[in-house]
Parts: sequence; C-alpha cells; structure tokens
Amino acid sequence: MIYIQVKLISYPKETDLIAKMAAAICYSGGHDYEEIRKEAERKPAEYLSKIVKNGHLSILEHNIYVFYVSGLSRVASHQLVRKRIASYSQQSQRYVDAKNFRAVIPETIENSQFTEQYSKKLEECSNLYQEMVDSGIPKEDARFILPGATTTQLIVSMNAHSLVDFFVQRLCVKSQWEIRQLAEIMLDEAQKVSPLIFKDLGAYCDFYGYCPENDKSCGRIKTLKEILHNDN
Ligand SMILES: Cc1cc2nc3c(=O)[nH]c(=O)nc-3n(C[C@H](O)[C@H](O)[C@H](O)COP(=O)(O)OP(=O)(O)OC[C@H]3O[C@@H](n4cnc5c(N)ncnc54)[C@H](O)[C@@H]3O)c2cc1C
Repeated sequence: MIYIQVKLISYPKETDLIAKMAAAICYSGGHDYEEIRKEAERKPAEYLSKIVKNGHLSILEHNIYVFYVSGLSRVASHQLVRKRIASYSQQSQRYVDAKNFRAVIPETIENSQFTEQYSKKLEECSNLYQEMVDSGIPKEDARFILPGATTTQLIVSMNAHSLVDFFVQRLCVKSQWEIRQLAEIMLDEAQKVSPLIFKDLGAYCDFYGYCPENDKSCGRIKTLKEILHNDN
C-alpha cells in the first residue's frame, strides 16, 4: 500500500481572474489595465470554461501551480516527468540514503498469493542495499538494486495549460492506476483554488467529447475515427 500525499503549496492569488484577463486582452477592446480588469470581472463564470473548452489554452499559461508530492513510486514518477512543459525537483537516490526505503504495493499484488513473496523480496533488496552501502559501495551504485516500487518525493510546477493536458491524458481509465490516482488528487486540489479554470476537467473524452485512442478505446464514447468515418 502507501498512499500518495499531494499538497498544493503555491498558486496565483486571483487564478480565474488572471485567465479571464488574458482572454479579455485577446477578445475585448479595453485600452488599459483598469478597463481590461473590469471587462474580465464582468464576464460570467461560463465565459472561461467555454474558452478553455474551445482550446484557447494559452490564456491559462500565466497561472503556475506548485505541488508537493510524496508516496509516489518511482514507476509512476517516471511517467510524471515525461510531461516536459513543467518543472521538477525530485529526491536524489545518489545523495539520499535509501536504507529502509518505503515501497508501493499494487492492490492486485496485495490481494494475491504473492504478497508475502513480494514483501520478502523488498526486504532482501533493502538488506543488500544496506550491506553494499555499509561496505563502501557508493549510494549511486547501490541504488541499482532498488525496485521501481520505491517511493519518492517531488516538487512539481505546472502552468494551468500543462495541467489541463496532463489531466485529460492521465485521468483516462486506460491510464496506469497510480498516475491516474495522482492526477485525480492534483485536479481536486486545483479545483479548490481555480474552480472556473478546472470546472469541467476530466478524462479527454469527458472534456473534449470524443476518444482520441481509436483502436485502444475503452468503448465508452465515440472515437475520433468513428466520428470522422461516421461509424456506429
Ligand atoms: C496512456 C499513456 C500511455 C503512454 N505510454 C507511453 C509509452 O509506452 N512510452 C513512452 O515513451 N511514453 C508514453 N507515454 C508518455 C507520452 O508519450 C508523453 O510523453 C507524455 O504523456 C507527455 O505528454 P506531452 O508530450 O503531450 O507533454 P509535454 O512533454 O509537456 O509536451 C507538451 C506538448 O509540447 C509539444 N512538444 C514537447 N516537446 C516536443 C518536441 N520535442 N517536439 C515537438 N513538440 C514537442 C507537443 O505538442 C506536446 O504535446 C504515455 C502517456 C499516456 C497518457
């Protein structure tokens, strides 16, 4: 087991207003800061979600959100850092001693006959790691024995555009469960502070109304291919 901990540690003070102002600059005839701000303040709640849904996501790039994440496996953090339009600071296995490392146990394994074996192997890895470090093997080499299940800590910063892209990709039911769990918690945190920007966010299909996965689709909603070919 091991539960992911996510804390939104920093976000802009007027998140929704900043995005509305960015949109107002693009679409309204306001001449100065006061006019643009007033214009933005007058816009109804659905104004922002409509623009976001229409794909004008650059208006969200002025909002930066900083998350603290822990309890995530190295398996999942590797997927997370594939998102390049973001900034990361991750706990180093070169410098930080991993003796007594914590590990994630997937539910399928936890509910199977392999639980004991899995835990035993983790313990063996931990013991060998410790033995190697104690005998002078550098941590950067000893860590090669550490499993992908080893938990990590990160600070992750993304702008709201990147977050939207991350959420629609990783909230998909076809996405791996741990990164999906992380995305769910991050969305929950983001919605608390930016209810308008992240109002309709969900998996790609929920947000855009079709599935981009085509042949790999879960079948819940029409794929792009089906729409283009007018298949049933
Ligand atoms: C369900 C799922 C399965 C996946 N499976 C795999 C897998 O098996 N193997 C694997 O390697 N990855 C896999 N990925 C990761 C995926 O390929 C992306 O690397 C990751 O999701 C980050 O998305 P992104 O590139 O859109 O985001 P970012 O890296 O943040 O990039 C944002 C956008 O910037 C543009 N961009 C960024 N860098 C470049 C560039 N170099 N050239 C041109 N345009 C660029 C693109 O338009 C991109 O969409 C998977 C992702 C998902 C959601």
